[in-house]
Amino acid sequence: MRTPLVAANWKMNGSREFAEQFFTALDVKGAGCTVVICPPYPYLPLVAEKAGDDIAVGAQNLSQEASGAFTGEVSAAMLLDWKVDYAIVGHSERRSLYGEGSELVARKFVAAQAAGLIPILCVGETLQEREDGRALDVIAAQLQAVKDAAEGDIWDRAVIAYEPVWAIGTGKTATPEQAQEVHRFIRENLGESGAAVQILYGGSVKAANAEALFAQADIDGALVGGASLDAEEFARICRAA
Ligand code: PEP
Repeated sequence: MRTPLVAANWKMNGSREFAEQFFTALDVKGAGCTVVICPPYPYLPLVAEKAGDDIAVGAQNLSQEASGAFTGEVSAAMLLDWKVDYAIVGHSERRSLYGEGSELVARKFVAAQAAGLIPILCVGETLQEREDGRALDVIAAQLQAVKDAAEGDIWDRAVIAYEPVWAIGTGKTATPEQAQEVHRFIRENLGESGAAVQILYGGSVKAANAEALFAQADIDGALVGGASLDAEEFARICRAA
């Protein structure tokens, strides 16, 4: 039995005032899922304080390095100091805008787990890759990079988010059937470990489409971008999970 999980990715949005108002408006009591809020770095302490014991905190990125001369970077151990539990790795915006390839993403995954954080590993294909019939191959390669870099039973302390790049921030959602096909593929790709792994869907999730997505057998929740900036809309998605 997998506990549903809904994570908010605020991306580079918000302010101190926004974060305070968000928690005043957020009511996820009785939602029956794990709720994770991933704000920009500067708001992690504030969000950790406001989130209390019922809501978990995540970072949107982390360094693959432990410490040293890496200006502008933040390590996994520093995130733990901020009471962070989760860290997103391999978000498609990091892959496409900051040139993060699958090997680097895998190193970040390993660094997160080594420090005791739970990585939320994002995988997904571009529209071109889907149209070329290569979606599943691309996702398999993204997973393989992590398998090559990590040792032991890595999937019992990880979350995977299937985020088709063509559905992120575009208003185009994968149909529940399209998403389910990929989620099933990912679960099978992980072998015996797959049955217990939470696999989230991400890509223009809103309250209006969440229920149909969550009704699919292998969709265990969502990674929510745009709609997570509205506390009431986000709470409705959490309640649907
Ligand atoms: C995301 O950034 O992970 C995401 C899924 O964004 P959106 O919900 O806005 O498509």
